[in-house]
Amino acid sequence: MKYSELPYERIDVEKRRNLMKEYLEKFSNAESFNEQANVILDVNKQNKEYHSYAAMASLNFSRNIYDEDAKAEKDYYDSIGPDMIEISDLFEKAVVQSKYKDELSKKWGEKFLIDIETSLKTFDPKIKEMLKEETDLRNEYTKLTAGAKITYKGKEYNLAGLGPFHSNEDRNVRKASIEARFHWFSENSEALDDIYDKLVKLRHKIATTLGYDNFIELGYMRMGRSDYGPNEVANFRKQIVNHVVPVVKKLVQKKKDILGLDHLYFYDGINFKEGDPKPKGSPDHLIKEAQAMYRELSNETGDFFDMMVEEELMDLVNREGKRPGGFCTSFPKYDRPYIFSNFNGTDHDITVLTHEAGHAFQCYSSRNQPLLGYLWPTMEAAEIHSMSMEFFTWPWMHKFFKEETDRFKYKHIAGSLSFLPYGACVDHFQHWVYENPEATPKERNQRWLDLESIYLPDRDYDDLHFPKTGGIWQGQLHIYQMPFYYIDYTLAQTCAFQFWIKNQQDSEKAWKDYVNICKAGGSKSFTKLVALAGLKLPFDDGCLEDVVEHVSKWLDKVDPNKL
Ligand SMILES: [Zn+2]
Repeated sequence: MKYSELPYERIDVEKRRNLMKEYLEKFSNAESFNEQANVILDVNKQNKEYHSYAAMASLNFSRNIYDEDAKAEKDYYDSIGPDMIEISDLFEKAVVQSKYKDELSKKWGEKFLIDIETSLKTFDPKIKEMLKEETDLRNEYTKLTAGAKITYKGKEYNLAGLGPFHSNEDRNVRKASIEARFHWFSENSEALDDIYDKLVKLRHKIATTLGYDNFIELGYMRMGRSDYGPNEVANFRKQIVNHVVPVVKKLVQKKKDILGLDHLYFYDGINFKEGDPKPKGSPDHLIKEAQAMYRELSNETGDFFDMMVEEELMDLVNREGKRPGGFCTSFPKYDRPYIFSNFNGTDHDITVLTHEAGHAFQCYSSRNQPLLGYLWPTMEAAEIHSMSMEFFTWPWMHKFFKEETDRFKYKHIAGSLSFLPYGACVDHFQHWVYENPEATPKERNQRWLDLESIYLPDRDYDDLHFPKTGGIWQGQLHIYQMPFYYIDYTLAQTCAFQFWIKNQQDSEKAWKDYVNICKAGGSKSFTKLVALAGLKLPFDDGCLEDVVEHVSKWLDKVDPNKL
């Protein structure tokens, strides 16, 4: 069945509430462990249905933010979100009080109850209205950024459409297009500050209403993190400063030589004088190549990607009215994932495709997991699947980049490593923001600039006014939409680099370990999945240092002037 043919419905909240009452009664009156387990599976089936429809509504709107019907469906699902949490909260409360708790834990693993206990700590009927407000504010951000109309050289672009100019080989084009981007942000900075200010204060209030000091602890629980906390994360960020920032400094020097420039400014985002490598061919051609690639990589990926193509489970190319960014979503009722992206003719199109295909492949591989909560792992683990897939597909990159393949690889590795300090900066910033919910927008911007000087000491904005005021973080949608979802990329990148190394040493074993953790889905926590993959835990001393050593040795060996 094609995506457009998948049945979609609006869920009726009152019907759900009544149905849940019946389940609760059955659950409480159950006279055996098996009876209770069956009720849990019935509820699970209902939840799968709800999550599928909500995901479809959200996706359809992302595909065309000007479609009024799609907007109405998404608004509907947004509006019932807190009610649905309340309904499932009632059932979860009964599960943690079950007299068969030990047996349930034995059947589905310890994570089953840990997940439920964590989820219970993030909700109380008292915060229901505030959750609705939070969703509205998130939507305001999407509406504002997705609707950006930027005039550049007499033509109108959205934020993604303007992207290719930022990596143009002509410095003037790069600078002027970035100026156009920042001009838009500068004109909207007050509105963006206002949305964020409300979000921070609201999240703080939600947290204190639930009995926490501030939003940080709650934010971690919302991310489902059960086996590490802010201290481990702070220590990991410190390791990035110590081990990665110096290597990135060296890369900046190298880039100056490659580009033949005395000094690098923020708008010198390209990696090669002639411009960054570009995928060769139309999007349709690239997808055909990707299909051939996934057939060669393994049987599992071949079947998976054929299905994605045949069932039209991808919307890849940028167009007017599409929400910016790339993501993978899923419809658990139908055992299907979906990939959304905004191809704009840059090398990023290929990394976003392999990245999101990694997420989708994992989610499809774990479709036989018994519980909805076990389909997806927590995000720092999920990003291992996606970022490692970017590396597992390396042997086929010539299909997309032809004579520019080595350039792509150099850029990919150098870029992935250089990303780590940025990722840590975004994370550090958010910790500060939620520790200081009363800070003014101006103080926030100043804090961002202070952190930039630690993590990104070589950034020079030249005379670009807007980023010099410290407002550049407003373009990072995670900061608004999914607080604390960012360090995940740096933890996962550290693991993905390990898969990259492993794949060079023993590709069969590396692939087997990868498929194993894909199938495990969310049945284990982050640290346990890392162990299952046979990787070192990023928090452990020496892990990042080893990885960086290996990566920088590889980078040292490449003479980019010969690429
Ligand atoms: Zn991802």
